[in-house]
Amino acid sequence: MEDTLDSYDVVLVGGGLQSGLVALATRARHPGARIAVVERGAALGGNHTWCFHDGDLSPDARAWIDPLVAHRWDDHEVAFPSHRRVIAAGYACVTSDRLAERVAAALAAPGSALLTSTTATRIDARRVEVTGPAGARVLRGALVVDARGPDATAAPRGGFQKFVGVELRTTRPHGVTRPMIMDATVAQEDGFRFVYVLPLAPDRLLVEDTVYADTPYLDVAALRDRALAYAAAHGWTAAEPAEIVREEHGVLPLPFDLDVAVPGPGDDAGPLVAGMQGGWFHPVTGYSFPIAARLAQLIARSAPVAPDGPPLFGGALAAHARAHRKQLAFALRLNWMLFRWFPPDQRVHVLERFYRLPEPVIRRFYALELRGRDIARILVGRPPRGLSWRAALSPQEAS
Ligand SMILES: Cc1cc2nc3c(=O)[nH]c(=O)nc-3n(C[C@H](O)[C@H](O)[C@H](O)COP(=O)(O)OP(=O)(O)OC[C@H]3O[C@@H](n4cnc5c(N)ncnc54)[C@H](O)[C@@H]3O)c2cc1C
Repeated sequence: MEDTLDSYDVVLVGGGLQSGLVALATRARHPGARIAVVERGAALGGNHTWCFHDGDLSPDARAWIDPLVAHRWDDHEVAFPSHRRVIAAGYACVTSDRLAERVAAALAAPGSALLTSTTATRIDARRVEVTGPAGARVLRGALVVDARGPDATAAPRGGFQKFVGVELRTTRPHGVTRPMIMDATVAQEDGFRFVYVLPLAPDRLLVEDTVYADTPYLDVAALRDRALAYAAAHGWTAAEPAEIVREEHGVLPLPFDLDVAVPGPGDDAGPLVAGMQGGWFHPVTGYSFPIAARLAQLIARSAPVAPDGPPLFGGALAAHARAHRKQLAFALRLNWMLFRWFPPDQRVHVLERFYRLPEPVIRRFYALELRGRDIARILVGRPPRGLSWRAALSPQEAS
């Protein structure tokens, strides 16, 4: 089996968002680090537009993430049946292409490797078996990070965020100046439904039809048609058929239960299971960008990746996982309340009420950095029917 033996400071399995951010954070901090990325697909990054709120990231993370940003806006907007609001907080997007380009550049350094069309077949604490165009190989890493993404996990108990986004060339300048991250004035079908719109250029829009549903089945054609109908109704596309430049879709878990398992201290500790697969995401939004960025930074400043840093396993990672679990506990409870206490067509009112909260609370919610007072603010006040301390504190039913 051991046809070739290669050694690295870190071997990253899966060439998606989490591995890409670890590679970039590591390169930013350690120009000489030997980094290997193993990706089963022909290219890194898949087909995504990853967005985040500016407030999600610390200033030091911004320094190495900014070059990835393909689009940035100063504010964004939400719309509900009886409430519309512009939120004065920046919003930014990273594209798969940009991530792939930057990570490939980071791996072009001597001693590093980008192995595409290569599948990891066995992942251990310090060793990864792969098979690819060059045959079978074994990669050795002082640290191995397993970030094979959501496909590697079974669907958990909970709801699902399903979406189809079409990037459209509009027939004339569309005039949209800020992202509409939730237009929930649309008909509520199959759960909480909203349309997400990003103005990418004066004649280009990403229009995404999204639903928070009870089942994972995604009818791509139906959601695409709804996104196209929304664009046509706004006068952005007159021609039939509308010109679709790109399309993305996804089904993200919104779980009721989730844990992060991190290796303890010890020489044989690892691999570190990271990214969506490891539970490093926001259970209510399905987003993982800020959480993946924070974990990437921690890995980059700890040993063994940082020779002079504190050990990753045991100390810093254990504390980081504890803090994440604490945030998860409340977010998972919110999912349970949303999906168990509210019939599908009533869920919109929960979100509408949430968007009346002060901006800092909204910011900390998206960043998954809620404080005790924030939790109280989310739960108390004039709740929509069903959202109450009683709901929050009652035991979760088994199914
Ligand atoms: C279309 C879409 C849009 C999204 N938009 C956002 C957003 O705007 N903001 C946000 O924060 N989150 C977003 N998410 C959610 C989340 O951030 C993404 O799913 C993110 O890509 C998860 O990162 P990851 O690294 O865990 O997994 P992925 O990015 O999915 O990467 C996993 C990689 O591992 C590879 N792989 C799997 N098995 C193997 C193997 N055995 N050997 C080698 N390679 C393997 C896969 O091919 C894949 O490239 C979006 C998700 C989707 C699907």
